[in-house]
Amino acid sequence: MASRRHSEEIIAQGRVRVNGKTVAVQGLKIDPFKDRIEVDGKPVGRPEKKIYIVLNKPPGYVTTVQDPRGRRKVTDLLKNIKQRVYPVGRLDYDTEGLLLLTNDGDLAYAMTHPSHEIPKTYLARVRGVPAGCKLKDLAGGVVLDDGPTAPAKVRLLGEKGDDGLLEITIHEGRNRQVRRMCEHIGHPVLALRRVSVGPLTIGGLKPGEYRILGFKEVSRLK
Ligand code: URA
Repeated sequence: MASRRHSEEIIAQGRVRVNGKTVAVQGLKIDPFKDRIEVDGKPVGRPEKKIYIVLNKPPGYVTTVQDPRGRRKVTDLLKNIKQRVYPVGRLDYDTEGLLLLTNDGDLAYAMTHPSHEIPKTYLARVRGVPAGCKLKDLAGGVVLDDGPTAPAKVRLLGEKGDDGLLEITIHEGRNRQVRRMCEHIGHPVLALRRVSVGPLTIGGLKPGEYRILGFKEVSRLK
């Protein structure tokens, strides 16, 4: 993009046209999405409109945009989305639930930066029902092979047969973190679903469904 000074120069040289008319004054208000802008007769690219999508990722999809093993990608689920979007953070192949996709690189960077500590809540069905002391360990932080985990919020929501259903909120985003935390206390994860990320919730979206966020929801992310 041209600097302000450079823009002023090329306008003064009569090289800029808006909607076919040469711009004769500085400071003309234009709408980059609607107006046709040319410099030296060549169209200037329009900035891509930012889009923010909440998807309920089904299990059996990768969150990378390419997969050397040719597995299904979350982006395959999006229909009629013209912009090229990328997942913010990742979910394992077998994990389902809330995944944000966007073409807003700044927001993606901010949301995944560890300093922002955005809470992410998961429902985990685990093998066996963990005792209270194990849940306390999990909440206080456990030592994994890449270091201790930060304090987490952990609740036993119920039991299903021999399995326990846990709600776990973490503020980190380490690889397979929830699975490794549960494995560490001796209760491996059987199924994992992310239900919220910061202010975003999965709501009534069925696996594979998605919705485009409105302006208000987006502003709450920033
Ligand atoms: N923790 C995991 O173990 N897996 C995920 O997909 C997300 C968080």
